[in-house]
Amino acid sequence: MLQKKLVVLGGGESGIGAAILGKLKGFEVFLSDRSPISDKYREVLLRENINFEEGFHTESLILKADEVVKSPGIPDKAPIIQALAAKGISIISEIEFASRYTKAKLIAITGSNGKTTTSLLTYHLLREANLNVGLAGNIGESFAWQVAEKNFDYYVLEISSFQLDNIVDFHPNISVILNITPDHLDRYNYDFQNYVNSKFNIIQNQTADDDFIYFSDSEVIISELLKRTVLPKKWAISLKDTITEGGYLANQKLVSQREDEHYEQDFSELPIKGPHNAVNALAAILVAQSVGLSHEVIKSGLLSFVNAPHRLEQVLVLDGVTYVNDSKATNVDSVFYALGSFEQPIVLIAGGVDKGNDYSQIEELVRKKVKALIILSPDYKKLKEYFGEIVPEIYVTEDVQDAVNQAQKWSVPGDIVLLSPACASFDLFKNYEDRGEKFKQAVRNLTSK
Ligand code: ADP
Repeated sequence: MLQKKLVVLGGGESGIGAAILGKLKGFEVFLSDRSPISDKYREVLLRENINFEEGFHTESLILKADEVVKSPGIPDKAPIIQALAAKGISIISEIEFASRYTKAKLIAITGSNGKTTTSLLTYHLLREANLNVGLAGNIGESFAWQVAEKNFDYYVLEISSFQLDNIVDFHPNISVILNITPDHLDRYNYDFQNYVNSKFNIIQNQTADDDFIYFSDSEVIISELLKRTVLPKKWAISLKDTITEGGYLANQKLVSQREDEHYEQDFSELPIKGPHNAVNALAAILVAQSVGLSHEVIKSGLLSFVNAPHRLEQVLVLDGVTYVNDSKATNVDSVFYALGSFEQPIVLIAGGVDKGNDYSQIEELVRKKVKALIILSPDYKKLKEYFGEIVPEIYVTEDVQDAVNQAQKWSVPGDIVLLSPACASFDLFKNYEDRGEKFKQAVRNLTSK
């Protein structure tokens, strides 16, 4: 029989995983990356005897594909994608490809913000119950790679909109949409509806036997639901309403109500804080209940959870001032929630690469809570113009230590110094982790006033 030709575009974590799985499943695999492939992954390709090229795309070879797995980082307008589309060659995401080869129950979590926290927490709860569960998607080892080499009964998948752009049959048993706020619009023809549609692809193959958990305070999600026929069972999450089928926050208690099952938990006991984390925790609780975890297991998992760094991470307290690293807040909505997580006055460090930000969402909170703004970026104009009249003190710098020193000068005991940039990090840093690490180091370099 003629071997089917699978072309994998992109030699990152997901591409390498797809190539390995493709080879295992009998495809003739060719991987092509327009950029250099990292040494670690090149070694894997050589070891696995997978044909590949790096630094360029050879169109004639790629166009021979029967099917293409595309890295989520490659935009649809890339010439090679256009050429494939013109020939009608099927282009799928690694998530789609991997899901064809596993019978595991899939829990897929998406949203503009909170994906990682909710996926990690959900995974932690399922592990607490001793289930045989993997964690994949945008996080850790790629889904395809794990499907090739492991045999999990459940997967918790953190799913970005880019991965949902190229799905066909991907079918999660439980899906979660945490929120949908403008992000990555450059990849969606600057049309928010395209981005919304992509997020909603997560439920497109779900049936009446499946569950769909969503944040019902989001007008975008609610108006989208009104437009669609939704087959899975719906479980809402709200921070303001009492919900009869789903979860809500009442008097600082997380409450979840599923049919005749009722679960309550003091939110203040959880290590994760802030209203956004109440949403994330409720989502994880609802998933855990859907999987059938006991209340004892859910509780002990919630209390023992440790979140990933750079997400409202407390660095230290010096002279009564709490320094918080929220470098992962790369869009305006996450800063909105970060500011809402504190009652104390805030010295805010923000700025970086603007993604078409609209600051009106945080204007009110900034006016109420932010006593000083430090803009850490060469591209400071937009923030300075927007907040010039709103925030009493503004300082601009391109040096993280200078930013932190200035924040210390402006803060008094009881204040919060918060790095929550609302922007991408690529102007001054390698990535948001690098920005967060350098911020933490700069904070540790401070001495008492
Ligand atoms: P993602 O993986 O979607 O980027 P993370 O869990 O890494 O999400 O959180 C990124 C940032 O978004 C955090 O620093 C936090 O400030 C904010 N955030 C987290 N959860 C939510 C939520 N449910 N709604 C809005 N903002 C959130």
